[in-house]
Amino acid sequence: MTSSPPAASETDLGRTRRARKIGRVLTETHPDAHCELDHSNALELAVATILSAQCTDKKVNEVTPKLFARYPSAAAYAGADRGEMEELIRPTGFYRNKTDSLLKLGQALVERYDGQIPGRLVDLVTLPGIGRKTANVILGNAFDVPGITVDTHFQRLVHRWRLTTETDPVKIEHAVGALYPKRDWTMLSHRIIFHGRRVCHARKPACGACTLAKLCPSYGTGPTEPAAAAKLLKGPRARDLAVAAGVDPDLVPAQAVAAEVP
Ligand code: SF4
Repeated sequence: MTSSPPAASETDLGRTRRARKIGRVLTETHPDAHCELDHSNALELAVATILSAQCTDKKVNEVTPKLFARYPSAAAYAGADRGEMEELIRPTGFYRNKTDSLLKLGQALVERYDGQIPGRLVDLVTLPGIGRKTANVILGNAFDVPGITVDTHFQRLVHRWRLTTETDPVKIEHAVGALYPKRDWTMLSHRIIFHGRRVCHARKPACGACTLAKLCPSYGTGPTEPAAAAKLLKGPRARDLAVAAGVDPDLVPAQAVAAEVP
């Protein structure tokens, strides 16, 4: 696959146009993009997001059905038995700290918000265990308030695309947000994170099987040869991802399709 990476002298307008094109290609590449933490309400999403620190979403999703059934309300978290909760969430790692956050979250919600998760960023970030990233996840997915989620994948990809040179997550959020219409922020975040988990990996990105090759100044960071790149695609749609990038899907090994998405 050939590429024509943007010149170092790219104008602001040029970068905005390229960013929008990247957004459109991602929409086509990842039609299945969504919040990968299972939840049915704002409280469950807040809890799942707290558990997702240093843990895969898949592992969190294995633990949460029992947890949500055991603690259906903020009051239930506030009054939970610490040892019992620790056992339930132990597989997600850092379970003592996470239990602490969940107990305090329940108490704060009962004391200050009538047991409900508030729908404003300024309120959310005052809650135990909830930083700006988590607050944006909750706003975007439980309240339909557009939010940009700057996680490790998001940071890596927007840097590789040279959409911003900022390194502080809040500054990245504002810089990237300015390139896209607000209404697109939540889905854009999901699509970028999907691409980071399935194609543009931290260590070996699948450049030769990437739909963004022509728009990406970092093309060549990973293998560009289709057969080598196709092996790096991950997840049940790995063959579709290859096709979307113009790569023969038969080059995608079964292990790639079966591979756990990080
Ligand atoms: S996989 Fe390679 S070409 Fe695709 S976005 Fe990542 S660095 Fe760029």
